[in-house]
Amino acid sequence: MLIPFSIFIPCIFFLPPEIFLKMPLETLKSEVLSCSKCGLAATRHHAIFGEGFSHAEVMIIGEAPGRDEDLGGRPFIGRSGQLLDKILEACGFTREGHVYISNIVKCRPPGNRDPEINEREACFPYLLKQIEIIDPTILVLLGATALKSLMGQDMRITRERGNWLEWNGKLVMPVYHPSALLRNPDLKRPTWEDFKKIVYKYRELIDAEHYSAHC
Ligand code: URA
Ligand code: SF4
Repeated sequence: MLIPFSIFIPCIFFLPPEIFLKMPLETLKSEVLSCSKCGLAATRHHAIFGEGFSHAEVMIIGEAPGRDEDLGGRPFIGRSGQLLDKILEACGFTREGHVYISNIVKCRPPGNRDPEINEREACFPYLLKQIEIIDPTILVLLGATALKSLMGQDMRITRERGNWLEWNGKLVMPVYHPSALLRNPDLKRPTWEDFKKIVYKYRELIDAEHYSAHC
């Protein structure tokens, strides 16, 4: 039976407004997985889109996939990722329930070199769309590449880490990259202080009951 127009129209108003505005995360993901907008496409095994809770209030942004990620097809699964998981666990956060994890560039630079400016520029629109879709309250920037790409080339991780910054109405916390902690264990203590600030802010703005065994 045909639905009379007068009945059909009001139904539209029950649909959440986001579905008219936002591209679904899965659509963006399939675009990234087949992307060849920069030279990194030629040497990658997998483009690594990101993973976690698609409505996360905390989004963690790293630099670029490494060897383990390139082969495994997931972000932060090598040594840095294992350390990141320990830090998240100490905060009471899980990948599935609290955070979304992605990178500035989605494909591995050969030999783990720093991503070049043209590669970062080619990939950046994907991250912007991811942030728009996930719409987190807090962005955690892991290391200098993430900090400079989002907040400006003049930013210094040694100076800005642990300070709340603001980007497009979102709170931003720059922290040392876990790989820096693996190279220099002295950075673990200040980094834990920075993550405690994230947990306190999470309790203040998102969930007053949030449980963490360590802070
Ligand atoms: N380092 C990063 O910055 N990102 C990853 O996904 C893995 C290691
Ligand atoms: Fe595309 Fe980004 Fe991979 Fe370059 S790094 S090929 S822009 S997904």
